[in-house]
Amino acid sequence: MDWSTVSHLTHDEITSLQTKRLRHFFHHELPYSPYFRALFEKHNLKFTDISTIDDLQKVPFSSKVDLAPTPEDPAKSRAFILQPDEHLLKKYAAKSKLIGILLQKLAGQDVKKKLEWEYKPIHLHFTTGRTALPTAVGYSQRDLDVLKETASRLFLTMGIPGNAVVVNVFPYAPHLAFWLAFFATSSLGLTTLQSGGGKVMGTQKIIDAIERLKATVVTAIPGYFYHSLREAVAQKKNWSSLQFVVFGGERVSEGLRAKVKDLLKEVGAMDVKIIATYALTEGKTAWTQCSEETGYHTYPDMEIFEVVDDKGNRVPDGQPGELVYTSLNWRGTVMVRYRTGDIIQGMSYDQCPHCGRTVARISKDIKRKSDIKEFNLTKVKGELVDLNAFFPLLSGSPEVEEWQLQIAKVNNDPYEVDELVLYVAPKPNVTFMQLEHALNRKIMAETGVTARLVEKPLAEVLQMIGMETEPKEKRVVDVRPKG
Ligand SMILES: [Zn+2]
Repeated sequence: MDWSTVSHLTHDEITSLQTKRLRHFFHHELPYSPYFRALFEKHNLKFTDISTIDDLQKVPFSSKVDLAPTPEDPAKSRAFILQPDEHLLKKYAAKSKLIGILLQKLAGQDVKKKLEWEYKPIHLHFTTGRTALPTAVGYSQRDLDVLKETASRLFLTMGIPGNAVVVNVFPYAPHLAFWLAFFATSSLGLTTLQSGGGKVMGTQKIIDAIERLKATVVTAIPGYFYHSLREAVAQKKNWSSLQFVVFGGERVSEGLRAKVKDLLKEVGAMDVKIIATYALTEGKTAWTQCSEETGYHTYPDMEIFEVVDDKGNRVPDGQPGELVYTSLNWRGTVMVRYRTGDIIQGMSYDQCPHCGRTVARISKDIKRKSDIKEFNLTKVKGELVDLNAFFPLLSGSPEVEEWQLQIAKVNNDPYEVDELVLYVAPKPNVTFMQLEHALNRKIMAETGVTARLVEKPLAEVLQMIGMETEPKEKRVVDVRPKG
C-alpha cells in the first residue's frame, strides 16, 4: 500500500489493517523463528492464540538481554531470524503460499530462489552499544524493498521536494542512518552526494560540497553537523541554499536546535527546517517528524507500538511509558514485544495538525532508559549519577562550544575519591568565568552532583572527543586508574 493511502486511513481502517497483518504474521511467519517457537512453547502459547492487537498482551516481552550476543553465545541474535524449512512450511505456511510453491514447482521454476528472496538475510546492520557486544540485524531481499519503502516515507513525511539536492553526511557504516538516507534519495530519484561522512570524505570537502552543489538538504549526526557548521562559519561559506537539516543517530535537544539555527544564519541559511528522526536498529527502520513541533510518524502496516508502565501493563492513550515494538511486515530478523528501553511522553492517535496524516505519532522527546542504566552503573563517590543528563545540558548550553566529561580520581590517585572533570571550550564571545557561573548551578540542579570545570582550547577538546577520528564521539570517558 502506498504511503499517501496508508497515512490517511481512518482509525477503524488502521485497526482492521493491523489486525489482518498481525494475524498473518503470527500464524504464518513468526513460527519460522527458533527464538519465538521456544518462547511460545515455554509459555504454553499457540501462534494461533494471537489474533487481535489485544491478544498481543499474552506474549512475554523480549529485550536486549535476549538478543545481545555474549562471549558464550556470540550468535544469539540468529534465533530471531525467520528460517523456514520444508517441515515448517508444511506446518505453518498460509494456503496461498503453499499453492504458489506447488504451481512454481509444476512450472519448473526455482522455488528455492523465491524463498531465498523472501527469507535469506543478505544485508546486515549492527547496533552501536556503548557496553554490550554489537548485535547483528539481518535483512532479506524482500526486506530491502521494505527498507526502501520506509526510507522514501521518511523524506515524503519531512516534505522534501523532488528537486532537492542532498548531501548525505551520515557515516558510511552498517547502521540505519546512512542506508536510510541512501535508499530514500535513490528511491525518490534525488540528486545526492553520498559523502560517507567526515572519516570517509573529510570535513573540508564536505563543507565545500554543500556550498558548491548548493545543497538544499543535509543529513547528519547532530554533533558532527554542528562541528562542520562551525568550520563553515569560520571560513565564511555560503550555505544559503539549505532548506532542511535532517538529524539522526543522536537525540536532538531544543537547545542544540537553537544553537544550530543561530549558526546557520551566519552562513546565510535563514529559514531551515531542522528535522529529528527516531531510529530503532531492532525495528529495522526509522520514523520522523513532519515539522519541528510534531512527534515521529509511525507506519501502521509495518509495525505495532505499545506503551507500557514499569510493570509492563499498557498505559492509557497519550500517557508516558516505555515504547514496545512488534514487527508486522519484516522477514530476516523480527521482533515481538521488544522493550526498546526508550521512555516517551506518550503516543498521539489524533490527526497530525501539521501534515494531516492519521498515523500514530511517538512524542518527540524520548529518553533512553538504556543509556541511563548503562551510565548509572558508573558510581561516582559511591553514588549513582545520571550522567546522561549532561548531554542535553551541555550540548544545548549557549555558553558551551564543545565539551568532554571525565570520571577521574582526585590527583589521579586510585585510592582517592572520584571526581567529575568537565573539559570545556567556551563560545568565542563568552569568558570562562561567565561559563563557570552559568554552568555550575545548572549542573547541580539537573544532576545533583558537582563537576570541576577546566577550560581547554576548542581544537584540543575536539581532539579529545575524536570528532574526526572516532566512530562515535567520546563525550563521557572513565579515566579512573585501577587501584
Ligand atoms: Zn505530521
